[in-house]
Amino acid sequence: MSVSSLAGSLAVSTLGVPRIGPRRELKAALESYWSGQSDAAALATVAAGLRAANWARQKSQGITNIPSNDFSLYDHVLDTSVMVGAIPAIYGWNGGQVSLDTYFAMARGTQKDIHAETCAHGHHGGEAHGVPAQAMMKWFDTNYHYMVPEFSKDQQFTLASTKPVDDYREAKALGYETRPVLLGPVTYLKLGKSQDPTLDPLSLLNRLLPVYVDVLRRLAANGAAWVQIDEPCLVTDLDEATREALRQAYGTFAHALPKLKIMLTTYFGGLGDALDLALHLPVAGLHLDLVRAPEQLDAALSKAPRGLVLSLGVIDGRNIWRANLPKLLDRLERAVAQRGTDHIQIAPSCSLLHVPIDLEQENDLDADLKSWLAFSVQKMGELAVLGRALASGRRAVAPELDASAAAAERRATSKKVHDTAVQSRVAAVDAAMQRRPSDFARRKAVQDARLNLPLFPTTTIGSFPQTADVRKARSAHAKGALDDAHYTRFLREETERTIRWQEEIGLDVLVHGEFERNDMVQYFGEQLEGFAFTRHGWVQSYGSRYVRPPILFGDVSRPKPMTVDWWLYAQSVTDRPMKGMLTGPVTILNWSFVRDDVPRSTACRQIALAIRDEVQDLEKAGAKMIQIDEAALREGLPLRQADWQTYLDWAVESFRLTSSGVAEETQIHTHMCYSEFGDIIAAIAAMDADVISIETSRSKMELLDAFRTYKYPNEIGLGVYDIHSPRVPDTIEMVQLLALAREQLADRQLWVNPDCGLKTRKWDEVRPALVNMVEAARRLRANVAQAAQ
Ligand code: GLN
Ligand code: ZN
Repeated sequence: MSVSSLAGSLAVSTLGVPRIGPRRELKAALESYWSGQSDAAALATVAAGLRAANWARQKSQGITNIPSNDFSLYDHVLDTSVMVGAIPAIYGWNGGQVSLDTYFAMARGTQKDIHAETCAHGHHGGEAHGVPAQAMMKWFDTNYHYMVPEFSKDQQFTLASTKPVDDYREAKALGYETRPVLLGPVTYLKLGKSQDPTLDPLSLLNRLLPVYVDVLRRLAANGAAWVQIDEPCLVTDLDEATREALRQAYGTFAHALPKLKIMLTTYFGGLGDALDLALHLPVAGLHLDLVRAPEQLDAALSKAPRGLVLSLGVIDGRNIWRANLPKLLDRLERAVAQRGTDHIQIAPSCSLLHVPIDLEQENDLDADLKSWLAFSVQKMGELAVLGRALASGRRAVAPELDASAAAAERRATSKKVHDTAVQSRVAAVDAAMQRRPSDFARRKAVQDARLNLPLFPTTTIGSFPQTADVRKARSAHAKGALDDAHYTRFLREETERTIRWQEEIGLDVLVHGEFERNDMVQYFGEQLEGFAFTRHGWVQSYGSRYVRPPILFGDVSRPKPMTVDWWLYAQSVTDRPMKGMLTGPVTILNWSFVRDDVPRSTACRQIALAIRDEVQDLEKAGAKMIQIDEAALREGLPLRQADWQTYLDWAVESFRLTSSGVAEETQIHTHMCYSEFGDIIAAIAAMDADVISIETSRSKMELLDAFRTYKYPNEIGLGVYDIHSPRVPDTIEMVQLLALAREQLADRQLWVNPDCGLKTRKWDEVRPALVNMVEAARRLRANVAQAAQ
């Protein structure tokens, strides 16, 4: 019997918990397996241990709806593809249970062909070659990446993995009654792609549903009373076909399994005009994200059919702040009074996958800051307290509620968070601070005369390979084994060598290589007031790759210059122009856990002012060119198009605030490492950077359409070298790409560069690729000179 059926209690859920383990045990186990150091049995043992620990942790924290099948070795969307047998032919799967090797081939690709005999895609016979991984995309507006399902026109689905059932049974054997989690069929299809542009993935729903029904039947047969089905697509702009697909899918499940209870979960936003649709699907429960969309509670309470269980997502599953529990109870008590304890459940806004595991591991955090935070384990505790307060009254948990309110009060008034100088400075920002002193045409004339660069100037995006030596020195320095003086000397040598090499091969505009930076956001966060860093606060970015986002907890200011000394050193060893290299405010914001007590736009503006000071200090030091990277600007776009403009307005404003404090002769660069510009080109143009470098190699310059159609006036650096692959492009290939670009844009607009920083590449790859790139620019110049004769 589940606790929720006991009188006087209320069900609390997590919707899913982090998989990686408190000490990144999953990463270690995966990498050991991939490198051949351990076998599949060892990996399975670690994975089972992590699942068991997750169940135990939730139980001990007081969670009653404990999930199963939320665990994944790599990615839950990939798990779903494997479950339904959506495995593209290149992986050589011949039916039956999908092997671990096939699973990881889909996840990561392979170096060598895993099924030489089935391979028929045009490679030289007998030569060892690999298969590419499935494409990867961002999971809604999170920094989690999923493996994109790939469907063919004649796609068939079949049950190819019983993982949901296996995991449910595994939990049961350990004494846990769980609520299995499935990714919903409609969201799953909508996340997929096809090589065939005429195939609408939703048209495959009829073929897909029987596999889902099969899985649900097996779960029910094994004793599952409830199943959680995630349909986050419900919070995006929905067309009629998707609405119909949802009705059809849940109608089919209700018909096939009238007794099985489905908790339909929506998260990352509000249902908007799909609320009625969701409330009337034939399911037993509906989960609402009340952190992102608190306003939907009243509507849901008044419109929900009598028997529907509402799961209220009130604890933030996307951020690390401790909640103000008494304040939440004010709203929740009304909901419970209206619907009764058995028709209300409490949950985080979304799965806890997106937050670090346990705050208790952080011994170095400031004690005040620590008292304002909650990671997944602490959030479970908060949920349990809410559940008890709602079931038995606030007095049952009075000390917990008092502590929660007291922490909120301290945070609201702490000097560590609130800096009146920063606030007045933000208040004093005016339009003039967000405008360059002259327009681009005039700036270009002044800058051209000053810089005297050739046509098609060549440059790179900033970082050069972070070799094992560089990483070793950094970690020795961090541990205290290498003192400051030696570390600095090492970095200077590395920097100078890299500059010499750039001169040698003939690059026109140089970079210092970024050897002193651990990460393009962390490096700045560590030098700014208002940011804190964790030791173990890892969250999954994709597969075995985890990130440790900075915590932006307070008003942001810059105690002193952050990059000027490095720039001065770099420029001192060369006569060629050296770019100053900074990370932009929007990117710093989007890659951090951001405070929830001021609007994001305000936090962004504060960062913008701090980086603006750095830009001005670089200019004062003599920098003629300053690059402000906004790698994450596009990924901050809200899920619904109606919210885009507001975001773009303040994002662009922040960038301009950062970049506009310099004279007209100072050239501002920005860099964006993606290729979809079509729908945001007006905002890109409004940023008014003198030069923007972008990714173009993989899309074969197609993305330039957006720039041409818009008549983008400023200069563009074309990423003609795909740095995401170890492959070295040859000169001809880059000349051809540039020729395509010249059909779309004027020669005087074009720069030549790789499509992103080189930090993840090896010198052996970078050297020939950049030599070829410089040669490509030379050939173009020769062509132009010839044509002019
Ligand atoms: N300047 C950074 C680098 O070269 C930019 C990285 C990025 O865009 N992701 O590493
Ligand atoms: Zn990039």
